[in-house]
Amino acid sequence: NSWQYKCTGSARAAAVLAEHRTKRLVTGGPRGLAAQAAALIEQHDLDDTTYIYDLGNTTRLFRAWRAALPRVQPFYAVKCNPEPALMKLLAALGAGFDCASKAELEAVAQMGVPKDQVIFAHPCKRPCDLRYARDTGVSLTTFDTESELTKIAGAYPGIQLVLRIRCDDPEARCPLGLKYGANPEDARKLLASAAALNLAVVGVSFHVGSGCKNLGAYSAAIATARNVFDIGAELGHEMRLLDIGGGFTGHFDGHGHVQFGDIARTINTAIGEHFPAESGVRVIAEPGRYFAETSAALIVPVYGKRDRPTPSGVVHKDYWLTDGLYGSFNCILYDDQKPQPLVLRSPLLPEVAEEQEEQQGAGKTFKSTLWGPTCDSADYVYKDVQLPELRNGDFLMFCNVGAYTVAGACDFNGIAMTNPTKFFVFSGQAVDDAEESEESDVEEEESEEESEEGECGPEAACKAE
Ligand code: PLP
Repeated sequence: NSWQYKCTGSARAAAVLAEHRTKRLVTGGPRGLAAQAAALIEQHDLDDTTYIYDLGNTTRLFRAWRAALPRVQPFYAVKCNPEPALMKLLAALGAGFDCASKAELEAVAQMGVPKDQVIFAHPCKRPCDLRYARDTGVSLTTFDTESELTKIAGAYPGIQLVLRIRCDDPEARCPLGLKYGANPEDARKLLASAAALNLAVVGVSFHVGSGCKNLGAYSAAIATARNVFDIGAELGHEMRLLDIGGGFTGHFDGHGHVQFGDIARTINTAIGEHFPAESGVRVIAEPGRYFAETSAALIVPVYGKRDRPTPSGVVHKDYWLTDGLYGSFNCILYDDQKPQPLVLRSPLLPEVAEEQEEQQGAGKTFKSTLWGPTCDSADYVYKDVQLPELRNGDFLMFCNVGAYTVAGACDFNGIAMTNPTKFFVFSGQAVDDAEESEESDVEEEESEEESEEGECGPEAACKAE
């Protein structure tokens, strides 16, 4: 009944890393990545938007999940960042996948992910997507309206259904309840309609909102799901799947984030109470941000600049970046993110210290606007940020931007922001586990990590369990 990590292969993970020529980094985080970014700029003469993925971070997050939520299998939400290397690594480690469209289902199928490791978690499917699901035998999907039931009964009555209910954290960074999730009071009617249409409902799902801030949202949602399970069983449905959605943070620094260890403890207590292991209920989740956010950094070059004197006589600096609101920085509009710029001096330009000292004194900063590359004057990343003088060719680096960034980019003005250059690194000790182990042995991996991981980071946070 409870899900087992049967295929967590270090050997398989190592194959993914080898395929992506992953470079080892001893130090991860902004410092390690900045040094790596400078080396890449020099080596490849970079002058366009570039992502650096740290697959070591992803690996550690996966292991932290497994340690903290042993009964909950993560189904990675592809929408968050459909980067193939990230997805292949997660598949190799043992994740399933949450897909929302034909293209996402196709991407996962091409990776050879088995059908029972995929949920088509879109409660209102486009007819063409539903036909594709039928033609390829996708086995599980969500719904939350009568109209969706009618659509499914007409197009693909054999698919198993999960009723998505609304259980919001009103303070979540991106609340989803306004759009999706049936009110729990309507569950009985929907479950009865499904039964009348001969459709099989097998479980309940919810999403408390992306970037959840209140632990209580998970416990309340799990308790509500229990009631809906009981109603479903009463109406003749074989209820056996609980899907606890997303909303998890992958930050372990404790600053302004709900701690993952606390979320895990809350969930474990609630599923222990309402869906004990003996119930035989399979529990899955749909984390996106958790795996992707801290696994990628973005470096963006400055390629244009201007000084603009203001009426008060203070000089304002304008800079043009190769990426903007139509690219990865769409996250500022759609995901309420505020990526913080770090200055990355180009190793291809003269040392800055001397130049700065001559011109203006080290450490001086100016009010600056960061413009995106399109012709739209609304396309600015930030206005009035304090930055030192930048030169054409210097870069700004943004850490923790793997979630809901490039996934939502478009190529407006013909500027290809959907497919930036990318490099893969693997920070920290986990690289040795992946490289050295021929045959996977979960127990062995876990005991190795316990002695090797530092005191801050995913593993340490979850060891408190
Ligand atoms: N599942 C569904 C249905 C979603 O809509 C989303 C995000 O929008 C996710 C999972 C992923 O959520 P998160 O990134 O908060 O984990």
